[in-house]
Amino acid sequence: MNTPLATEATLSAIATMAASLPSDDKPDFDDANRGFVGRAEQRQILADDGRVVWDLDAYDFMREASAPDTANPSLWRQGQLLIQDGLFEVVPGIYQLRGFDLSVMSVIETDTGVIVVDPLISAETAAAAFALYTEHRGERPVKAVIYTHSHIDHFGGVKGIITQEQVDAGDVAVIAPEGFLGHAIAENVFAGTAMTRRAGYMYGAALEPGSATQIGTGLGQTTSKGTVSLIVPTLEVRATGETHVIDGVEIVFQVTPGTEAPAEMNFWFPQHRALCTAENTSHTLHNVVTIRGALVRDAHAWAHYLTETIDLWGDDVDVVFASHHWPTWGRDRAVEFLAMQRDMYLYLHDQTLRLLNQGLTGVEIAEVLQMPPALAAQWHTHGYYGSVSHNVKAVYQRYMGWYDANPANLWPHPPEAAATRYVAAMGGREGTMAVARKAWDEGDYRWCAEVGKHLVFADAEDDEARALLADTFEQLGFGSENGTWRNAFLAGATELRSGNFGTPVASAPDMLNALTASQVFDSVAVRIDGPRSWDEHLLIAWRITDEDVTYLTELRNGVLHHRTLKDPPPGVTVFALTRVALIGLVTGALDFPSALGDGTVAVEGDPSVLAQLIALLAPVDPDFNIVTP
Ligand SMILES: [Zn+2]
Repeated sequence: MNTPLATEATLSAIATMAASLPSDDKPDFDDANRGFVGRAEQRQILADDGRVVWDLDAYDFMREASAPDTANPSLWRQGQLLIQDGLFEVVPGIYQLRGFDLSVMSVIETDTGVIVVDPLISAETAAAAFALYTEHRGERPVKAVIYTHSHIDHFGGVKGIITQEQVDAGDVAVIAPEGFLGHAIAENVFAGTAMTRRAGYMYGAALEPGSATQIGTGLGQTTSKGTVSLIVPTLEVRATGETHVIDGVEIVFQVTPGTEAPAEMNFWFPQHRALCTAENTSHTLHNVVTIRGALVRDAHAWAHYLTETIDLWGDDVDVVFASHHWPTWGRDRAVEFLAMQRDMYLYLHDQTLRLLNQGLTGVEIAEVLQMPPALAAQWHTHGYYGSVSHNVKAVYQRYMGWYDANPANLWPHPPEAAATRYVAAMGGREGTMAVARKAWDEGDYRWCAEVGKHLVFADAEDDEARALLADTFEQLGFGSENGTWRNAFLAGATELRSGNFGTPVASAPDMLNALTASQVFDSVAVRIDGPRSWDEHLLIAWRITDEDVTYLTELRNGVLHHRTLKDPPPGVTVFALTRVALIGLVTGALDFPSALGDGTVAVEGDPSVLAQLIALLAPVDPDFNIVTP
């Protein structure tokens, strides 16, 4: 395949956009390089089996080059900043490891050791980053790990830094905001399969890095592909003002639930006059809802907490750092940065409400709402990860839901049924193709995508239509300032041309093993094949031996619900097992006959009810189609 080129229409759209970009390029590059200590010599981080988990040079083609025709220069610049990798001193005693993963790891030196904040996604990248710290600052024992929030890029690499045994022995504290564990797991349980497949589009994981392919996500370059781990927190921070002293270092916390994550916190190091804002601020407009799919966030609460942050520490702060991107130094700059980030989320929230109360729908608001010029003049308010367009729809969704109140949209045909009708209405396949081609020729790629989508959903084998839609997605991707949009467009183009790239199934046993018994039953319930279970009635009791709790699961009307009770009803089969054995049983990690044989699971009553339940589970599909029917 030839390297695809940007069309005149795309180049012209990029040029118009580039003319409005902030002029002062230098401060971000200065900040991204300030305090540089050293770079890792080992440029590829490998898993035990030799697989490349992370390549520090994967984006070398971006380092010195100006933006090619096939990239939005604003997103290209963001990528150039994000690949400034290495160990950096934030202030004496506080260091950051940047460029080792999607996220950034911070190290705070204590009297006799260190505190590690946010140990990346993979154990391998976290270990490599910490090794670079150690190389320059010497061997120092880890006294505490802090997870700023419940997203995987802030805890998954923890076992590259510490072991469960160190935590069990009381040598290392693991500190997280209240509710961390439930939220960290919930996100991956109920909608996990679909979210993972969609994340492949959002992060462009199947795309090779390259000037016409993947150039980053705006938040970090991409996600590492190593071993995800989890160590359950030993200390939950519950209230703002809560203060803990770790080996001589005082930390004052501000809990910020319902912001960028459902469980999140900022914290202040008074001895360093340094503020960590987790992911509540970053050098991008962040997501009110991510395009991989997620519960919609509360932009109003987010802004409110940033005001509180400024009130708490704005008078004293010398530097603000976070778990993505680079710090901002100087009291005035730091406070203005926090305030601008606050204004950005509040503006989106308030103006969306103003406009929806004038009757505009989410799609319409997204078309007219613009950031105030003073905000747009800052690089860090640009939509590299979130976008004004999709965040506005998220605010609308939070208050109004999916329906825009026009009854024409209350009961539309689903995509395939609509596609055949649209194609027929536009004069059949040839007539529709002519409409799409005209849109392409005119550079109206949004319309070309709309029409092309119907052609492909009316006939998935229409190679000419697939190729045109792929070309269109590509132009939309090249023009996009948003990294996740670019990835989504280019992922769609890739699947139209080469077929479904699926979803690599990553196993994270630590995450599964942290499920509560109740979460296990819920995760089984969402796999029940409803129609096949309509007429089934099944009662099973589960005695969780290590928690001394008995659950009753009941399947009726296609629903598996559960509750705790004192004694199982007479005649109901009782399985007695530990919580972890229950997880093993449900995930298939534990072989039922041998578990019965060796006593891992004990049964009173008829064990065949388990097989009956399992027979009613439907498989999930990690490789479902997106751009084709
Ligand atoms: Zn993150």
